[in-house]
Amino acid sequence: MMGKGDRKVIIIGAGLTGLRIGQILASAGMQIELIETQPTVGGMLQTVERSYMGDCYMFDLGPHLFFEEYASVYESLLGNGSDDQLTVVKGHFVIKVGDETLLYPLKMMNMLARLPLSLTQRIIWDLARSRLTRKKDGGMSSVREWMTQRFGDTLFDNFFAPYIEKCTGLSPERVSHKWATERTTVTGESLAQTLMKIMTEAFKGRKSHNLASSEQMAAYYPNHGAGRIPLAMAADIERHGGKISLNTRLSNLCLENSMVKSLILTESGNRRKIIHGDIFVSTISLPSLIRLFSAGVPAPISAASKRLAFRQLLLVNIIVDQANILDHLELFYPDKRFPFKRIYEPKRMSPKMAPEMRSSLVLEICCSDREAEDFQLQKRLIDRSIAMLENEGILKREDVLDCFTISLPNAYPIYGLGFEQVIAAIEQFLATVANLITCGRQGLFEYHAMTNESMEIAENVADLILSGKSKADVNAQGKWSKYFY
Ligand SMILES: Cc1cc2nc3c(=O)[nH]c(=O)nc-3n(C[C@H](O)[C@H](O)[C@H](O)COP(=O)(O)OP(=O)(O)OC[C@H]3O[C@@H](n4cnc5c(N)ncnc54)[C@H](O)[C@@H]3O)c2cc1C
Repeated sequence: MMGKGDRKVIIIGAGLTGLRIGQILASAGMQIELIETQPTVGGMLQTVERSYMGDCYMFDLGPHLFFEEYASVYESLLGNGSDDQLTVVKGHFVIKVGDETLLYPLKMMNMLARLPLSLTQRIIWDLARSRLTRKKDGGMSSVREWMTQRFGDTLFDNFFAPYIEKCTGLSPERVSHKWATERTTVTGESLAQTLMKIMTEAFKGRKSHNLASSEQMAAYYPNHGAGRIPLAMAADIERHGGKISLNTRLSNLCLENSMVKSLILTESGNRRKIIHGDIFVSTISLPSLIRLFSAGVPAPISAASKRLAFRQLLLVNIIVDQANILDHLELFYPDKRFPFKRIYEPKRMSPKMAPEMRSSLVLEICCSDREAEDFQLQKRLIDRSIAMLENEGILKREDVLDCFTISLPNAYPIYGLGFEQVIAAIEQFLATVANLITCGRQGLFEYHAMTNESMEIAENVADLILSGKSKADVNAQGKWSKYFY
């Protein structure tokens, strides 16, 4: 029988999921190699530095707050040879509706106190009516159908419809209800579950004290940016003899008798290389994985995978001549008047992110692949965004010292109607490739997969590999199937 150290595991992608799998396996004495196309580890979890007039400003690729569940793991990683540490972040998430700023996740008492009476009356009337007239669920439903049947049109149209449209680029009639029913980590529940609790409490006339809210949220953040966590994981992998190959492009995945035998890579300097392994774990996007097969993918699967698309995120990073900018951790802007969907100030997560007397602000604008390449359009969007922020009293145009953008492809999987069937077909095909596991946010095509899910997925995949069982064994028991295909 093969010992742990005799089997080689190749992990594709050195984001949080791939790194955590590699870290667990390497410390258990397995041979591992991580293949990463970027020049650095971290995937979506990176912190970039920008210098302005001799000062250093740090920006995450999207704000990354960490939650209680894995805080001790991150803490011990950072404590192990890194010059950083985790600090507790306190504050609120808020959402701008009309001229009002409400707590997010929503709280009934806060809504009643802040929204115009005519709007809250309409919300409650709609909600009561939808409860009385709700039809039984049938077939594939869109997020609009699913949510308005439960919560009414007013709440949906004012709070969620424009936000969904910004994030997906589709009208809510064309988005699957999974957008609202998938579990999210900020509350530990899905959006629908959170709303259901708020509404039930409101109908019973009780104050909603048991709700998971951002007020009660324990969030953590490394002093020098979220990117410190993947860097600490990579160092730990290398300490345990694991290998990380950066700047490496994967061109083919070779299949023989329903097993992946090798990968064809192009390293920096355009050198081609073939590597062999016993087990292959992919954390790259599901459609990209399907494209890598040199042969053996049935034509309908290949065609279906092309229907899986992503929305890009354009991060507009602004250096501002103000010591502090925002009162809240994150502000959500569903309203279509605002080109951005969320803004945040890195200094609110850690004072080390900007110098003492200045600060920075990040705007998130969702866009299509085509829009992400249209620099004239981007310029107009940025100009309009700054005008809107000025109008909101958040900053003054003359205080904007520097501005640069970062584009994050594959930020949000688009849950178009019927996408679940495409995933199911791909899952069925991948079940036939015994030594290939796909997992992680991109590898499962999951919109809401946060760092907690990535860590949970990674630990389950590592357990499976260490157990010496095949994925078919555990899938048959239905035990770990939510963690990988
Ligand atoms: C804007 C934004 C904000 C977020 N904020 C939070 C937050 O506050 N809290 C939270 O808990 N979670 C947050 N998340 C979620 C969090 O980022 C993810 O859960 C986590 O980073 C996913 O890690 P991953 O390894 O699964 O995917 P990724 O980070 O995408 O890793 C995949 C890796 O594969 C590499 N790759 C791709 N193609 C190839 C190829 N062909 N060959 C080799 N390598 C390849 C990529 O370069 C990347 O490094 C946020 C996500 C986004 C988009």
